[in-house]
Amino acid sequence: MLLGFKLRRLLWRARRITVDLWGAATTVGAATLVAIGWFPDLRSSSADIAPIVAACALGALVVVKVAGRLRIVPSAEREVVALEKEDRRDLKSDLELGAALVVATYVTLELSGGLFSPVYPLVYALTAFIVTFHRRLVGIPLVFVTLAMEGLLCRAAVQHGMPEVRAREQMISHATFIGFFALTHFVFLQSEVLRQRREHRAVLARAIRSLRDEARDFRLISSSLSADPKARSRESDEERLAIGAVQAIHDTIFYTVDLLKKSLDLNTCVLLWLDDTGARLKIKELVTDSDCVVETAINADAGALGTVVKNRLLVNLRDPKRGHLPYYAAPVEVSFLGVPVIEDGHLRGVLCADRGGDRPFSEKEEKLLQGAAEQMLRAIQSERVFAQVERAKYEHERFFAALARLNRALTAEDVYATTFEATREICEFDLAAITLFDKASKRHTVVSTVGDAPKGLSGLSFGDNAGIAAMVVKNKHFLPAGGEVRDKDALIFTKKVRLEGMESLLVLPLICREEAVGSFAVAAKRARAFGKDKREMLTVIASHVAVKLTNAQLYGRMEEMATTDGLTGLSNHRTFQERFAEMLARAERTGGKQALLLTDIDHFKKVNDNYGHPIGDVVLRGVAQVVRDCVRKVDLAARYGGEEFGIVLEGTDLAGARQLAERIRSEVEKQVFQSPKGPFGCTLSLGIAVYPDDGRDGKTIIDHADQSLYHAKHNGRNRAFAFPDLAGVKLKAVK
Ligand code: GH3
Ligand code: MG
Ligand code: MG
Repeated sequence: MLLGFKLRRLLWRARRITVDLWGAATTVGAATLVAIGWFPDLRSSSADIAPIVAACALGALVVVKVAGRLRIVPSAEREVVALEKEDRRDLKSDLELGAALVVATYVTLELSGGLFSPVYPLVYALTAFIVTFHRRLVGIPLVFVTLAMEGLLCRAAVQHGMPEVRAREQMISHATFIGFFALTHFVFLQSEVLRQRREHRAVLARAIRSLRDEARDFRLISSSLSADPKARSRESDEERLAIGAVQAIHDTIFYTVDLLKKSLDLNTCVLLWLDDTGARLKIKELVTDSDCVVETAINADAGALGTVVKNRLLVNLRDPKRGHLPYYAAPVEVSFLGVPVIEDGHLRGVLCADRGGDRPFSEKEEKLLQGAAEQMLRAIQSERVFAQVERAKYEHERFFAALARLNRALTAEDVYATTFEATREICEFDLAAITLFDKASKRHTVVSTVGDAPKGLSGLSFGDNAGIAAMVVKNKHFLPAGGEVRDKDALIFTKKVRLEGMESLLVLPLICREEAVGSFAVAAKRARAFGKDKREMLTVIASHVAVKLTNAQLYGRMEEMATTDGLTGLSNHRTFQERFAEMLARAERTGGKQALLLTDIDHFKKVNDNYGHPIGDVVLRGVAQVVRDCVRKVDLAARYGGEEFGIVLEGTDLAGARQLAERIRSEVEKQVFQSPKGPFGCTLSLGIAVYPDDGRDGKTIIDHADQSLYHAKHNGRNRAFAFPDLAGVKLKAVK
C-alpha cells in the first residue's frame, strides 16, 4: 500500500518534471542537432523523413508555447504577491518561448542552406522582434542565444565541408549585424519610451495648470503663488479644495447652457470668461451644433462681443446678417444675443446665444438669458463661499492642532519653539521674536527669535522706550493697526537693531491675568501678510503663549522655593542633603576630596534675647551673605539648621578648608549690626571634616564635622577646629 503510494508520488513527480522540462529539452536537443549539422540542406539533398519530423516537432513546440503564453494575462484583480509570482512565471515562459523561436529559426536556416541561406534576414527580423517586444531581462539573454546559435551554425557549415576561414568570416559578419540590430533597436526603444514619458508628464502638467487657472478665474484661490515650500504645501492643499469647486461650477454652468440651448433652440450657447488682463475671452462652457467654433481665446474687443464688453450692456442683434461672430472661425448668418456677466461692478464674462433661420430673440428671451447669467454667477459665488468655508475649516483644524502642541509645552524653551511652529501653520513670516518684560527693572529682553533676525536682536535687552514692542506691552494692544509697516523708520525694539525690508509687521502683547508679560513680534517681507483673520488667530496664540510663559516662570519659582531657604536665600536643608550626597558620589568616582564646614553662631540666644528676634534674623542674613561671598560657584552653601550653616567645598583638602573657615570666621567677626540699643557684633564657631580622610560616607563626615564644631564651642568659641585636631582629645559637654 505504502509502496504503491510512493510509486504514485514518484510517477507524479516524474510527470511534472517532464512537463516542466520537455520544452527546454526539445529546444536544447534541436540546438545540438543544428550544431552537429544533422539537418540537411533541403535544396540540394533529397529529404530524409527524420529531420522533417524533428523540425515539425519544434514548430509544434513553438505553437504550443505561444498559445500557453497568450493565456497568461495578468488580471487587475490579482493580489500583488500573485502578480510577482506570475511575473517570474512570465519571465521563464518568455525565455523558453524566445529560445525555442531562435532555435526554430536556425533549424529553418540549416534546412535552407546554412550560413548562406536565402532566408537569413529572418534572423535580423527575429532580433528586432526580441529587442522590441521583450523586457531587457529577457531580450539580452535571447540576443546572446542568437549569437550562440550563429556559432553553432558556423560549426555545422564547417562540418558540411565549408572552408573554416570562409565560415568564420560569414559568422562574424552575421554576428556584427545581429549586434548592430539589437543595439539600434534598443536605443530607439529607450528614446521612444523617454519621449512618451515626457509627453505624458507634459499632458499631466497642462491639466493641472489649466485646473489651477480655472480656480483662479472663478477667484477660488489667490492669484499669487509663493516660493516658500511650506506655504506652497498650504497652497497645494488650497488647490485641492478648489478643484472640487471648479468641477461643481462646471456642472452647474454646463447644465444651464445646455438647458438654454434646448429651450431656446439655439445654434450655440457659450459662456466666455475674461482673463486677468481683461483683453481676452476664454470659452468656459460651450454647447453647439456648429463644428467651426474656435477653441483659442478671443480678443475681448472683437465684433458684437466687443460691444457687450465695452458697454457692459446686453446686445441683441435682431436682424440676422451674414457677419462675423468672433467665437466662430468662419462668418455665419445668425441672430445674436450677448449678456454681460457682472459681479460687484466688475465684468467677469459674456453669456452668448445665437441661432439661425431668421429667428431674432424676443425681450422675454433676453430676460431669460440675463436670469441664466445671474444664476451662473450665483453658482460661482456659492462655490466660492463654500471653498472659503472649507479653507477656513482646514486652517482652523491646523491652527487648533498647533495650539494643542503649544499647550503641551512645559519649559519656556518649548513654549518659544511651539509658538513659532504654530505661527507657521497660520501665516508666512520672515522673522518672529518673543520679548519678556521685567516689571522690577522695567527692561525688555528678546528671549527667542526665528527667521531672518538682524544681528544683535537675539538676547537684546532694552529699556521702556518709545519702540513698538515697549508700547505694545504698555498699552496691551497690538501694533501697527493694520499689520503693515507704514513708517519704515519706526522703532520696533531699539535704534541699534532695525528690521530691514519688512512690509508687514505685527507686535502682539503677551497678556496673562490682565498684565502684559512681554510681546510677540512677527514680520514678513510680503505686504498684507497679516490680514484680519490672521491677526485674530495670532492674538489667540499670543494669549496662550502668555499663559504658558507665566506658568513656566511659576514652575521655575516654585522649584526655587522648594530648594532655597526663604530667610537667607541659601539652599535649604533638604537640598543640602541631596547635593552633598551627589558631591560625595562625584568625589568617590573621581577620587577627589570634599571638605565640609559646619558653622554655628556663638551665643545667638543672647542676640535674640537682647535685641529681639527680628534683629536676630538680620544677623542670620548678614552671616549668610558672608558665607555666600566667601564660597565659589561650585561650592554648596546651605542653611543647615536654625543658626547653623553647612558649607561643602568642592575638591578641597584640609588646608584649603582651614583657610576658608578662617576667612569666614574673621569676616563674621568684622560685621557690625545695628540695633536700637546700639551697634553690636557676633562671632562664629566652625567644625571641619574632609572626605575621604575623616570618613567615607556622608553621615560620618557630618558627624565628625559636628564633633569638631562642638570642640570649637568647648574651646572658647569664635574659632575653627578640624576633625584631625581632635585626636586624643576627650570631648566634654559644653555649657
Ligand atoms: P552657642 O554659642 O552654644 O551656640 O549658643 P547659642 O545661644 O547660639 O545656642 P544655640 O546654638 O543652641 O542657639 C540656637 C538659637 O538660635 C535658638 C533660637 O532662638 C535661635 N534661632 C534659631 N532659628 C532662628 C531664626 O530663624 N531666627 C532667629 N532670630 N533666631 C533663631
Ligand atoms: Mg545652634
Ligand atoms: Mg549657637
